[in-house]
Formats: sequence, C-alpha cells, structure tokens
Amino acid sequence: MAEQTFIMIKPDGVQRGLVGEIISRFEKKGFYLKGLKLITVDRPFAERHYSDLSAKPFFNGLVEYIISGPVVAMVWEGKGVVATGRKLIGATNPLASEPGTIRGDFAIDIGRNVIHGSDSVESATKEIALWFPEGPANWQSSLHSWIYE
Ligand code: GDP
Ligand code: MG
Repeated sequence: MAEQTFIMIKPDGVQRGLVGEIISRFEKKGFYLKGLKLITVDRPFAERHYSDLSAKPFFNGLVEYIISGPVVAMVWEGKGVVATGRKLIGATNPLASEPGTIRGDFAIDIGRNVIHGSDSVESATKEIALWFPEGPANWQSSLHSWIYE
C-alpha cells in the first residue's frame, strides 16, 4: 500500500478559516485525500494522541488547545507523504518556519501552530488507527499517471 500520513488542522486553523487553504496545498502537490472528518475530541483522546509528550511542561496547555474546538482530521496518501507533509507544514515553532510553509505563512506562536502532521511512518500508522478506527477511504485517483511516471 502507498504511504499514508495523518494530518490534523488544529482548532485555531478551523476557527481562522484555513481549512480550504490547507487542503488545497496537499491536493495541489498531488497527494490523495483518503480520510476527512470534522471532530471535537475529549481530553482522554487528546492525551492519547499526544501521549509521547506527557512529560513536557506544555502538555496540559497543548491538550487544552486541541480540545478547545473542532479539528479537521485527515489521511493523505502518496510517495514520501510523511516527510513531505512535514515540509509543507514547516518547523514546529512558526517563528522558525520558512515562508511558503503552512506554519511559516499562517502562524506565529508555537502553541497556536495551526496543524499537526505525523513525524514518521510508524507514528502515522498509529495515529491513523487512533483517529480512523473505521479505516481510511478506499478510492484511486484517475489522475495517477499524470502525477507519477
Ligand atoms: P510537531 O510534530 O511539529 O507538531 O511538534 P511536537 O510533536 O514536538 O509537539 C507537538 C505540539 O506541541 C506542537 O505542534 C506545538 O503545538 C506544541 N509544542 C511543542 N513544543 C512546545 C513548546 O515548547 N511550548 C508550547 N507551548 N507548545 C509546544
Ligand atoms: Mg509531533
């Protein structure tokens, strides 16, 4: 199966009307949308998603941020989508994110950095299973041979 990643537009991205812009960047790149839902998660779910960061001093604030409103949870598919997705997103701290990246163009504070993307294929598998227990959608784009040689 082609590589997949988990991408989440955080509550600030939804509130600020950045959903269409962000989806558009992944679409235009050539990645395929394989899962999409607007969902408000509860505290235990957010703590599970960020369980690797539970010892960090910002953990509680991070969980409060993620549960503060609906998020857009997505699965995107394509060659190298985990690493390239992280490049489209930009550095964790938006002050260090390059212009042209999502965080570089749309965010300032690290605690309001608009979007999440899986950091490895292994995390992507875990995060997709957590957010999409029903599994991603199964469809093939008819544009495939215009994007891949
Ligand atoms: P990411 O993979 O680039 O999202 O970064 P991490 O996995 O290291 O951290 C997860 C999220 O926690 C980040 O996207 C930020 O929203 C938040 N975060 C990370 N480091 C800090 C920090 O030093 N302070 C605050 N307030 N939030 C942070
Ligand atoms: Mg991370």
